[in-house]
Amino acid sequence: MPDASHGPAPRQLDVAIVGGGLAGLYAIHRLRGMGLRVRAYEAGSGVGGTWFWNRYPGARCDVESLEYSYSFSDELQQEWKWPERYGTQPEILKYINHVADRFDLRRDVQLDTRIKSALFDSKSSEWTLKTDSGEEVRARYCVMAAGNLSTPRVPDFKGIHDFKGKWYHTGLWPHEGVDFTGLRVGVIGTGSSGVQMIPIIAQQARHLTVFQRTANFSLPARNAPMEPERESRHKADYPARRRAAYDTPFAIGGYPRPTKSALQVSAEERNASYESKWQEGGSISYLYTYTDLLVNKDSNDTASEFARNKIRGMVKDQKVAELLAPKDHPIGTKRLCLDTNYYETYNRPNVSLVDVRSAPIQEITATGLRTAARDFELDAIVFATGFDAMTGALREIDVRTSEGAVLRDHWEGGPLTYLGLMVSGFPNMFVVTGPGSPGVKTQMIASIEQHVDWIADAIGHLRQHKLDRIEPTPQAESEWVEHVNQVADSTLYPLANSWYMGANIPGKPRVFMPYVGGFDRYKRHCDEVAAKGYEGFTLTRNATVPA
Ligand code: NAP
Repeated sequence: MPDASHGPAPRQLDVAIVGGGLAGLYAIHRLRGMGLRVRAYEAGSGVGGTWFWNRYPGARCDVESLEYSYSFSDELQQEWKWPERYGTQPEILKYINHVADRFDLRRDVQLDTRIKSALFDSKSSEWTLKTDSGEEVRARYCVMAAGNLSTPRVPDFKGIHDFKGKWYHTGLWPHEGVDFTGLRVGVIGTGSSGVQMIPIIAQQARHLTVFQRTANFSLPARNAPMEPERESRHKADYPARRRAAYDTPFAIGGYPRPTKSALQVSAEERNASYESKWQEGGSISYLYTYTDLLVNKDSNDTASEFARNKIRGMVKDQKVAELLAPKDHPIGTKRLCLDTNYYETYNRPNVSLVDVRSAPIQEITATGLRTAARDFELDAIVFATGFDAMTGALREIDVRTSEGAVLRDHWEGGPLTYLGLMVSGFPNMFVVTGPGSPGVKTQMIASIEQHVDWIADAIGHLRQHKLDRIEPTPQAESEWVEHVNQVADSTLYPLANSWYMGANIPGKPRVFMPYVGGFDRYKRHCDEVAAKGYEGFTLTRNATVPA
């Protein structure tokens, strides 16, 4: 009998899942299917993760919908109809809610619940998670599916609380929407979120001022209604297409693999190829023009310069065009944006671009914003300033063990993982699409499914062998981290100051976090590790716990 004076007994689970987004929901489905007691804890008041929170105008996926969707159920992928080439945020959220209902996932999701701490007890081989309302949950395994772009970041500007207008962050957008009609609006940030919202806000606002610190490359999305023949062609062959996508670096199928270096062809041929990719739309298509765009700077220069010339052609004021044309990083080494009328928006009379690299923002004032050059009067400010990416969500949870390991300390100099899936010293804690995983460099749902399947198989293996504990060896972890770095160093990615590097957060260690060796290579490697009896992991049975 639980002692009533100590509150209700902790809920007992086999697997506690942190997060009710695309990863958390699939984890419920997959693990519940093995007969495990599972429950996901979600901070939001609805399921959907990224797609629940990021409701800013123009929010849309930059991977085509027929690809950016779950593959685990052929019935699901056959029956769902995507209305456009690229899904809008409301459409994707509708899809996620449909999945939650169709597979009866909601009964194992606890909404409005943030996990504050997670403690592993070595004796019982069990995690105890504590929620923000003080509830305790015990589970043999813990799956961190908390997202990697889920900790919104507003820069620490002086004066923000004195601002008399309203301010917003793209990742915490009001559910009722925001009407900017007739307002003087400032948008800070020109990453994917800014690039998507700027053309829409420009149509509403009296005046829109965009404060740009670093110009980003953006390609035309060429979004359009879904063509019925294309949809039926794709669906007729869906499982094979998914398998083919798994054999590509980005886990996205349908693009013929390049065969030549950009330097093997004439300038005319190159430009004609880039032009045809530009017309086709989409980032993978463009980066797939040649084999070496992400590894050879000279090759990349040709693709970067083609895109810069496009910007010069689209933007009438050449001073503005030069500011918008990125020169500090090779194309594709920061997340390549996709847009609809982004550059053309700067030709509107009610839009101005302010370079806050040369004259940084100094403070938010009661009536707007002050840069080193001048004051701007604003009625509303939108922070499209990004996230504490990849490690933010996990660092916000106090993760520790009875042996004295503390995750924040373990990651002090940068995140350490084995395969991006587990952390040495933190047994039975799995991470989905975290640092060291290729997740953010791929069609994310493919990575989520691959990670969760791998985790489910590992748990199945432990149960089958009457084991109760798995953790990577410190050596396997450090070798993986070294490998992730070596692979990154063989590419052009480290040349960009991006959130891949933690460069957007002052004081964050500069470590290249995603695995950029390709989804295909990564998946093969994970499968081999499992086939070799979980090489690099220690699997044990804790004698004090009944199996
Ligand atoms: P982001 O790419 O990190 O961009 C943040 C922007 O804010 C950058 O332009 C950054 O400039 C600027 N910024 C940050 N702090 C600033 C400061 N103190 N002063 C001035 N400017 C500042 O964030 P995001 O646009 O939200 O996108 C994050 C990621 O989410 C994307 O890369 C993508 O993976 C994902 N996403 C995807 C989609 C999609 O599927 N279509 C849409 C949105 C987001 P610096 O570059 O100089 O730091």
